[in-house]
Amino acid sequence: VSEAREYDVVIVGLGPAGASAAATAAVGGARVLAVDRKVSAGEPVQCAEFVPSLIDVDRGVLGEATRQPISAMQTFVEEAPAAHQPRFPGWMIDRAAFDGALVRMARRAGAVCRFGSVVRSISAAGVVLASGDRLRPRVLIGADGPRSIIGRSIGRVNRALVETRQITVPLLRPHAATDIFLSSTAVGGYAWMFPKRDVAHVGAGLAPPLRARLKSVVADLHRRLVAEGRTGKDVLATTGGAIPVGGMLDPVGCVGDTLVALAGDAAGLANPVSGAGIHAAVVSGRLAGAAAVRWLAGRADAGSDYRDELAECFGASLDRALARRSRLLATYHNGGQPRPSDLKRGWIAFDEYWNAA
Ligand SMILES: Cc1cc2nc3c(=O)[nH]c(=O)nc-3n(C[C@H](O)[C@H](O)[C@H](O)COP(=O)(O)OP(=O)(O)OC[C@H]3O[C@@H](n4cnc5c(N)ncnc54)[C@H](O)[C@@H]3O)c2cc1C
Repeated sequence: VSEAREYDVVIVGLGPAGASAAATAAVGGARVLAVDRKVSAGEPVQCAEFVPSLIDVDRGVLGEATRQPISAMQTFVEEAPAAHQPRFPGWMIDRAAFDGALVRMARRAGAVCRFGSVVRSISAAGVVLASGDRLRPRVLIGADGPRSIIGRSIGRVNRALVETRQITVPLLRPHAATDIFLSSTAVGGYAWMFPKRDVAHVGAGLAPPLRARLKSVVADLHRRLVAEGRTGKDVLATTGGAIPVGGMLDPVGCVGDTLVALAGDAAGLANPVSGAGIHAAVVSGRLAGAAAVRWLAGRADAGSDYRDELAECFGASLDRALARRSRLLATYHNGGQPRPSDLKRGWIAFDEYWNAA
């Protein structure tokens, strides 16, 4: 029962959302405790590590975590040759280094960041850690990922998830594009090959009922890349994880007199089509941290302003992605198989995606 009232803001999760929230709240003068059940920042990595250039405002944050530039996207629809799209530049990063750098920023700002610390439950009596400590912050930020326990405590649960599997293999020829593989067999998702200097991430995401197929989808793509002389046979690492694809949740609630704000995947901010969530996690984390500071200063509208800010930043793109994904999934539910034209309308690299009604 120690620390019961020591902190103004408690943040659960020290991924990009939580670390960004911690830094912003601490810079704003709040006494911040951020906890994560992981033993160290960002590890094990559960990510394909691509960040689009729109995070250029964050070049300072990306800093030493960048590993190679990406100049374009190549999309393979079924067996057709790749469509090359130069509109999708970005960076391959090292997620453990990136998450670690964000945590260092939070610590420098004065936030206490604690790893190996698990939140067990939340109630009006406080936040209970596995250690038995009970915290009673004035603001609780849920940055605890797709299956957020903080979200659940205010009745917000991601409506849909995609399950993923990814292997890391040697890359035999330098490559500067993210390769996307769309197929009617990859229901609710897609397969990818992202180059990171001398290795490549080869993975796939599928709707949960097809989880059992993930292994063979990834193995098939790996075999194809080996046959094409693009990657080696060895599997250097294997990872996976869930991605929220059901769109934005209402990110604000309360437990007793504690304001609760969700950020990043916990708020359903990953893109339902691409699965990209790093940028939204950083941006929403900062906004949540700033909202916490306003709340502590007595601004009763801090929570509802945060809700509006998220809707303004992410609402339109999430809604579009959700609509495209739903339409594609409806093809299967109606007993059909999407045609290449349906797949293109459902993928961000094609004009059809942006122009469809
Ligand atoms: C295989 C895969 C590939 C991906 N590839 C990309 C990509 O290339 N580009 C991209 O932009 N996005 C990608 N994403 C999505 C991206 O990883 C997430 O959107 C991003 O990590 C969200 O950040 P976050 O801070 O919200 O959550 P997370 O990074 O998930 O951090 C949440 C943290 O909360 C902690 N936590 C959870 N519960 C508790 C608890 N009870 N107590 C204490 N700590 C807790 C976890 O340990 C974790 O560290 C990928 C996801 C997967 C699974």
